[in-house]
Formats: sequence, structure tokens, C-alpha cells
Amino acid sequence: MADNKIAPNANGFFDDVCAFFDHAAQFTNHSPGLLDQIKACNSVYHFQFPIRKQNGVEVIHAWRVEHSQHMSPTKGGIRYSEMVNQDEVMALAALMTYKCAIVNVPFGGAKGGIKINPKNYSLTELENITRRYTVELIKKNFIGPAIDVPAPDYGSGEREMSWIADTYNTMNPGQLDALGCVTGKPLALHGIAGRKEATGRGVAIATRECLNVAEDMHAIGLSPGLAGKRVIVQGLGNVGYHSAKYLAEFGASIVGICEYEGAIYNPDGLDVEEVVKHRKETGSILGFQGAKEEFKVSAIGLEQDCDILVPAALENQITLHNVDRIKAKVIAEGANGPTSPEAGEAFTRKGGIIIPDMYCNAGGVTVSYFEWLKNLYHVAFGRMDKRYEETSNRNLISMIEKMTGTDLTPEQRSMVIKGPTELELVNSGLEETMIRSYHEIREIKLRNSKIEDLRTAAFVGSIDKIAISYMNLGIWP
Ligand code: NAD
Repeated sequence: MADNKIAPNANGFFDDVCAFFDHAAQFTNHSPGLLDQIKACNSVYHFQFPIRKQNGVEVIHAWRVEHSQHMSPTKGGIRYSEMVNQDEVMALAALMTYKCAIVNVPFGGAKGGIKINPKNYSLTELENITRRYTVELIKKNFIGPAIDVPAPDYGSGEREMSWIADTYNTMNPGQLDALGCVTGKPLALHGIAGRKEATGRGVAIATRECLNVAEDMHAIGLSPGLAGKRVIVQGLGNVGYHSAKYLAEFGASIVGICEYEGAIYNPDGLDVEEVVKHRKETGSILGFQGAKEEFKVSAIGLEQDCDILVPAALENQITLHNVDRIKAKVIAEGANGPTSPEAGEAFTRKGGIIIPDMYCNAGGVTVSYFEWLKNLYHVAFGRMDKRYEETSNRNLISMIEKMTGTDLTPEQRSMVIKGPTELELVNSGLEETMIRSYHEIREIKLRNSKIEDLRTAAFVGSIDKIAISYMNLGIWP
């Protein structure tokens, strides 16, 4: 008989992920040995290296964890933060395994971490740290297009990915697929259009899909559809900014933004681009003219009136300490692990829906997968067929015009004829992945009345898929 309580977390983030896993595992019928194999981190590499700073030498601590090699390569971002520790990297690597499985991206999960606050280092020092980190991974065979492929995460972006690609390329002369060793690269270095915004765009699509299911919205007392829904976003970095941008584009109203320096709120809506501009100019979101209220304690921003909360900063932001004061009906987890298991249970009990991180923020890894494919193909999506498609469409339209005696306007003509760009193909693949995966998770939940939330359903789906991969190896019956 299924136990509807998630075991309370004793130690940390990895235990939280394992608690979610164990809770979901009871709804599957795999052997305990297989479940243990899936759950454990296969390889945990902690290393340290010295770097020269202006005023001496500093020893940097870093990690790369490969959680599961049931599929190759493994994949996961590199976090640059002074809060990074082994437990966190293990938890994030495990989440990557489940995330890739749920959105059918054929990778195992991995994660990296460098324990620094990037703001405390010069550009040259950051470059030295990143290149040295990459060399350490190369030395231990922890990076490569067929082995383990990092990507950006909290505190890192295109710039760091370029340094990694260049270092790997330099140390692997003649390796044809070398640039597939890392994703999230800038376009000029064989990145892919749409990768930077992919995670946030995916969060917005996931939220729209959830809000579009009328039956589920009526059950929690919200009208269906995203239009006019009030959203609070925590974190105005890559994921938070792009989530806010696309949610607003899809018709929602961004009423609150929380950053580490404080929070701003306006029930009539905030102009996200203007907030970003203000923060660039002043170094803070506080003091923004378009806000009606502001809070020096950032966490209070999460508790303001809204329909949807998008935590897109760090883990453990919604806990038993604040969950009762959260007014949102839907939490769309842009960040990894923002809701503790106990808080998640409490939120579901009071009638809320959590769109779980392992699905909600999977847009990034989905488009990283497209970038990796592009690097292996050595050709941009759309390059071979765009003009061919346009010629075929033009011929077809001319024939229809001739047969019907009706001419399209020039605007209609170019709309119908136009072949897809790389960005359009990427966005189409992302949208398809997010929509299909949402309904796959929801179906699992509907099929078993004892599964009480989307996170448990997502874990059940992932565990089943990973178990099948292991069973195909012929080790487990
Ligand atoms: P980022 O560094 O670009 O942005 C994070 C933002 O959060 C920063 O602006 C930072 O100032 C802010 N922040 C930090 N502490 C805060 C606090 N206590 N309250 C409010 N704001 C705070 O990082 P990111 O890439 O946007 O990653 C954010 C989260 O999304 C992480 O959990 C990461 O693992 C997850 N994620 C990122 C990606 C990706 O493609 N970048 C993909 C999947 C998941």
C-alpha cells in the first residue's frame, strides 16, 4: 500500500532528491537493487587546484559528479557559487538524470560546481579558473562529446562555455567533434540559436500548458488560461528573466520580482525590461519607479498576492517556514530544488499545483541536446532544406493561384513560402518537448489516484524509463 508521506529530510539537498525518488518508487514495481543503482551517484570527483591572484595564491575547490551513465554522454551545468558543496552537486546531478529521462533527452545526468563567488574575481582570474577546471576534467576523462558534456548553470554563461570549448579543443587536436564537449556556447563558437533563453522559455511554455487544462484549474479555483494571471518571479538571472519575458509575452502580468537585494511589487504589473534597465544602471531592483511596494527582505516578495510563483534563483526557497504564507496557487519551479519535500507536501495539501523542476526547467537541456546534435552534424539546422522548402512552397502557391484565379497578397505569400530558420526549428522542438512531456506526466498522475502530485508522477515516469535502459543491458531481469 502506497505511503502518502514523503520521508522528512535529515541531511541535505541530495537526501531531498532521494526522498522524492523513494516516494515515487513505491508506485513502480522494480527490484530494490535496481532502484538503488538508479538512485546512487556513479562517480563523484572532488578536486582542488591553486590559482595565482594579484595578492597571492588561492586554492579553489571544485566538483564534477556523474550521476548515471545509463545513457552516454552524461550532461549537466557547472555552477559557480561560494555556496557550492558536494551534497548540492550530487543532488543537481541526480535531478539531471531524472530531467533528461522525463523529456526524452538521451543523456545521463551530471553536474559541476566551482566554489567561488564570480563577483570576487577579475576576468583573467575567472578565465584561469575555468580553463584549469576543464584541464582537471580532461585529465580524469570527465569531459568529452561522448563522455560528459557540461553547460551553463547558476553563475556561469556563454563566456565560460567558450573557455571550456577552447581549452578542450586545444588539448584534443584533430578531434572532429571536439566542440560537442560543452553546450550553451555563443553562436559564433558553434552554439545554437535560442539556447540562452531556452530554460526560461520552457518554464513559460510549461506554465501555459498547466494553466490551459481547464479541469485542473477549476479544481484549484483559478480560471483556465495564462492571460491576465499575476506572476511573481524570484531571480532576475538567465532563467528568471527569460521566464518573466515569455510569461509576459504569453499574456501573464509580472506583478513581483525578487532579487537577493530585495523585492518589488505592483499589482498592476511591472515592465520587466525597464526593471532590468534600472538594475543595470543602479545595481539594484530597489528604487524602481514603476513599483508600488518594495521590500528590503527579498523573501517577503514571495509571499505577496499572485496566482503563479516562479522561483528561479536557488534551492530551498519554499520551506515549512514560509509555505503557509505563499499565496500563489501554482508554483512553476524554474530553479532546481526550490521547494523542500515537506513544503511541497503542504502546498499540495492546501490545493496548490507544483510544476516540478525536473520537468519545468528542462528547456535548457532540451536545447543543449539540439546544440550537441548540431555540433556532431557539423551543419546548422535548416541550412540544407530552407531554400528547398521555399522553392517547393512557391511552386505550390503559384499552382493554387493559377487554378483558383486568386492571388495572395505579398505578405500572405511570404508567410506561406518562408522556410524555417534555426531559431524557429529550435523553438518548435522545445515547444513540442515541453507540451508532450507535460501531458505524459499528467497522464501518469491520472492513471494512479494515489499519486498526489506532478512531481511524484514525473519521478515515476523517469524511474520507469531509466529502469528499462538498465534492463536492456541484460543485468536486471
Ligand atoms: P543566474 O546566475 O543567471 O541567475 C540567478 C539569479 O538569482 C541572479 O540574478 C541572482 O542575483 C539571483 N539570486 C540569488 N540569490 C537570490 C535570492 N536569495 N533571492 C532572489 N534572487 C536571488 O542563474 P540561472 O542560470 O538563471 O539559474 C537559476 C536556477 O535555475 C538555478 O537553480 C539553476 O540550477 C537552474 N537552472 C538553470 C538552467 C540554465 O540553463 N541556466 C537550466 C536549468 C535549471
